[in-house]
Amino acid sequence: MYIFPTIEALQNWVKSRREAGETIGFAPTMGALHEGHLSLFAAAKEAGHTVVSSVFVNPTQFNETADLERYPRTLAADIALLKKQGFVEALFVPSVKEMYPSGTEITRNYDFGELLNVMEGAHRKGHFEGVAQVVKRLLDAVGCDALFMGQKDFQQTAIIRRMLELEKMATELVICTTLRETDGLAMSSRNRLLEENERIEAARLNEGLFQVKKEYKKQDLGKTIADAIAYIEQNGLMKIEYLQVADRKTLQIAKNWDNFEELVVCTALRIGKVRLIDNVLIP
Ligand code: AMP
Repeated sequence: MYIFPTIEALQNWVKSRREAGETIGFAPTMGALHEGHLSLFAAAKEAGHTVVSSVFVNPTQFNETADLERYPRTLAADIALLKKQGFVEALFVPSVKEMYPSGTEITRNYDFGELLNVMEGAHRKGHFEGVAQVVKRLLDAVGCDALFMGQKDFQQTAIIRRMLELEKMATELVICTTLRETDGLAMSSRNRLLEENERIEAARLNEGLFQVKKEYKKQDLGKTIADAIAYIEQNGLMKIEYLQVADRKTLQIAKNWDNFEELVVCTALRIGKVRLIDNVLIP
């Protein structure tokens, strides 16, 4: 596996692979890799691409300094895991200076409309602006045919889809299903920050979301959501920031089950010092 800290070295390598007739599938990450990440690389490989990934903890998408400082950084273990899986042929590991040579101010302003005003957009001010900056810069650096992202970050996929439209980029966006631990907790780099009792309790998060899915059109939506929140928060360890059902395309928040065909239930919560998100498609 090639490891490139600079855009120039990465681009030279990508150019040579393209000249050999290969297509590039790219799955960016912030590291602390787990099987969820590996599933993206597997999907890219399966689709026939030469697989490129990146590990970059993007400072512009963190709206809390403490969260950025605490974010797990495990590059040596990540590289070992990637080598073991054997799918990623080139790993891009830029410095902040390489990605943001003129500083970390937001330089591209996108009109994300209503996509930005709900859920993560409403609760993490500036988060998606930062995500859009870095994904655009990463896409420019790599020059890929297909971008692989996880459904785990549902709203992020909607934002990036819009960004690709606004930038008139032909990059294919491939969304991969969420990999879960055996108790249902969505795999996440942040899970390793949980205390033992918090980790056990966290399984309730996914159970609560599936409870909402189970009640689809059976029980009033407001009552369904209230029940799910009460279920998740019952032991006082988890505190919900939001738990909402939204239209999958527009992210318009549903107030009742009618008039919506393809929904997603999304939540964010705090457990100890850790903030977790998850979502489940309905029906
Ligand atoms: P992150 O390193 O958390 O920024 O995630 C990098 C990519 O991996 C994003 O596209 C995520 O949506 C995806 N991802 C994170 N967790 C999972 C998971 N449990 N299953 C599948 N994809 C995931």
